[in-house]
Amino acid sequence: MNLEGNRYLFDGGIDPLELCKKYDCPLYVYDTGVMKRQYNRLLNAFDVKQVKLNYACKALTNLSVLKFFKRLGSGLDTVSIQEVRLGLQVGFAPEDIIYTPNGVSLEEIKMAADLGVKINIDNISILEQFGQEFKDIPVCIRINPHIMAGGSSKISVGHIDSKFGISFHQMPLVKRVLEATGLKVEGVHMHTGSDIMDANVFLMGAEILFNIAKDFPDLKYIDFGSGFKVPYKENDIETDIEDLGEKISERFNQFCADYGRELTLMFEPGKFLVSQSGYFFTKVNVVKQTLSTVFAGVDSGLNHLIRPMFYDSYHRIQNVSKPNAKPRIYTVVGYICETDTFGVNRRINEIQEGDILVFHNAGAYCSSMASNYNSRYKPAEVMIFEGKDYLIRERDKMEDLTSKQIEVNFEEEVKV
Ligand SMILES: *Cc1c(COP(=O)(O)O)cnc(C)c1O
Repeated sequence: MNLEGNRYLFDGGIDPLELCKKYDCPLYVYDTGVMKRQYNRLLNAFDVKQVKLNYACKALTNLSVLKFFKRLGSGLDTVSIQEVRLGLQVGFAPEDIIYTPNGVSLEEIKMAADLGVKINIDNISILEQFGQEFKDIPVCIRINPHIMAGGSSKISVGHIDSKFGISFHQMPLVKRVLEATGLKVEGVHMHTGSDIMDANVFLMGAEILFNIAKDFPDLKYIDFGSGFKVPYKENDIETDIEDLGEKISERFNQFCADYGRELTLMFEPGKFLVSQSGYFFTKVNVVKQTLSTVFAGVDSGLNHLIRPMFYDSYHRIQNVSKPNAKPRIYTVVGYICETDTFGVNRRINEIQEGDILVFHNAGAYCSSMASNYNSRYKPAEVMIFEGKDYLIRERDKMEDLTSKQIEVNFEEEVKV
């Protein structure tokens, strides 16, 4: 979305204020042009024989988004049996889906195996039980490289105390399980967490993976996970993808030469592919001047976009209705009946009630983490594809809030 003269426009000329009129606020809008740019940028960063990107769909699971990534040639990274089913539903081939759960039951893993998708196991007990039953289905194993990385403790998942992965110190045990069961390992995987700033963190993890990989003779792929940092502010730091791609490719090619066979280099980004494609439009209900602060209260809250409250995430906020007004300082808050602050003391063009504010980076972990808290409707979602807008999720209605509820009829109970 760019400022052109006195209004903001999406590529292809779509006016966000027109979308807000057409579909009403609050509204999520996703620009597929940005998804495609990010996908190709990452793909082109690698110089290896075989590379596969699996979109980590928990970031944004709308069916049309999944279909768009399928169209780009992406695979899918899934963390629940339901995400596996969504992928199959939109036509992904089972072998293009990798299932990377944590802490799920053996029953659920068996279901995924029956559906024919790639299985990534991160627990020795499960590996053993799986092997006893499905020794002919090769698996991937998730390694914990014991690297402290990531933007916050909630999203740092590769350190030594983390619940994720099998410690690389436990490889002798893994090998005993493989020998005892006859199970084969077709992939090794790591995922260290989100918002990693330094390419060298990947390289450190990569060395650990290579060191483990050389001992497994039946590999088809090495999966380096994700966690690329995207910019949230103007001039914000981001993972240097091109630098990372160059360094990893060189080391990967060398590994394949030593290993004696070409393997597939895999990554599974969520945020990198969709974060910047998303815009969340809200309407200002109230401007409230207190003794210390000017609040702008919007028609949304932590029910629709919880990242600022949950992760202390920064989302850039702009007044779409007043592109050329003078900036003032506002604290932007939601309408939920607890403190739900989107941003404190932000410079935003002078706000009047009824103005439309946009939250940037609203593609990843925003709508997919939305709830009906305070009995509010989840927003509508729109996709922009080649200069046209498509409604990809209707706004909730009253019946959506109650459709699964069953009312007890107290009067009848009394009579019995
Ligand atoms: C969440 C997740 C990802 C995606 O992480 P991003 O930071 O969104 O890129 C990748 N792999 C696994 C296993 C995940 O759980």
